[in-house]
Amino acid sequence: PTRSTPMREFKKSSKLDNVLYDVRGPVVDEASRMEAEGLRILKLNIGNPAPFGFRTPDEVVQDMRHQLPDCEGYSDSKGLFSARKAIMQYAQLKHIPNVDMDSIYTGNGVSELINLCMQALLDTGDEILIPSPDYPLWTACATLSGGTPVHYICDEEAEWYPDLKDIESKITPRTKAIVIINPNNPTGALYPREVLEGIVEIARKHQLMIFSDEIYDRLVMDDLEHVSIASLAPDLFCITFSGLSKSHMIAGYRIGWMVLSGNKRCARDLIMGINMLSNMRLCSNVPAQSIVQTALGGHQSVKSYVVPGGRIYDQREYVYKALNEIPGITAVKPKAAFYIFPKIDVKKFNITNDEQFALDLLHEKRVLIVPGKGFNWHKPDHFRVVYLPRMDVLQECMEDLSDFMAHYRQA
Ligand code: PLP
Repeated sequence: PTRSTPMREFKKSSKLDNVLYDVRGPVVDEASRMEAEGLRILKLNIGNPAPFGFRTPDEVVQDMRHQLPDCEGYSDSKGLFSARKAIMQYAQLKHIPNVDMDSIYTGNGVSELINLCMQALLDTGDEILIPSPDYPLWTACATLSGGTPVHYICDEEAEWYPDLKDIESKITPRTKAIVIINPNNPTGALYPREVLEGIVEIARKHQLMIFSDEIYDRLVMDDLEHVSIASLAPDLFCITFSGLSKSHMIAGYRIGWMVLSGNKRCARDLIMGINMLSNMRLCSNVPAQSIVQTALGGHQSVKSYVVPGGRIYDQREYVYKALNEIPGITAVKPKAAFYIFPKIDVKKFNITNDEQFALDLLHEKRVLIVPGKGFNWHKPDHFRVVYLPRMDVLQECMEDLSDFMAHYRQA
């Protein structure tokens, strides 16, 4: 450019204008800045088990080593035969109806497939029901695709189950689908059969398709059973998502999948769109696909973490009790995954902005949590704790939080 022509500025596309993904947002940026200054931050914000000492089963790593030399080329766009066969059998074990090899797609994590589905389904103005609180990728991808996310409430007073009345009241002629996250991030809720049946009933009445994000389905506590909603809806078109990031502590390998089930006749055109987008990305990471069969078959070592004496179970017990002992904080006991979503008494602490609350806690105690806003929760009265760090770190965090709340902004 000459001196007279102003520098051309590159702006992000307007498609991103309303896209929010605050799980890695401003509070995390501030924590990174503080870390760069040499401060030690206690991180209760990352749903990534490996850095906290959760080990990948040896057989999975061995299998990857063994298979790597044969994973150089692209695979079929939906995935390797061995991976899809294992996923199909897993879907059958969960009683998901009308699943064949063609119904299975592997992805670079569930994340890629959520984005792919939103792009395939939603036209500008199409509505999709998404829980609040949610795992915010769902809202972000729906928005990015031009669709309109419409949030239904999950009810803290009822174990954080979806509020069926609220769901029904938000359906319009433009509603195409409903998303459920079960087990749930950020609440740790696990939905019982009756609640799932209620959702299916509504979907049936209004001819909605169902997306069910079940990435935590193997991290269930208290001897409870995870039920796939697709198993209750053979007459509806459902897409069920899961993967190995959490159950096998290999979030970095990037492997997830989706299973199309039920009534596929009503979704022929959509499936063509999904196939096209799947082909356009060529295939998902092949080395990671190569270990799916080994990972899903045989002993599930994750089970040892979610029973009494196991780290996830014991850490849940501790964090749940410790949070509820802090005056002004209450929390529903999570039943699955490794998150808890406590409530703050905002009147007592005069809190109007949960991001500010998270920043204040970070600055004063160097404890990093994600404010409820990051999960499309529209009141400033919640935050999420990831209870993956070791017990000694959790204890330090809970003591710091308790101390912080004892004098935070009290009149
Ligand atoms: N869905 C939920 C509910 C999650 O919590 C996460 C990760 O935290 C994902 C999907 C993304 O998982 P993946 O690693 O398979 O992309």
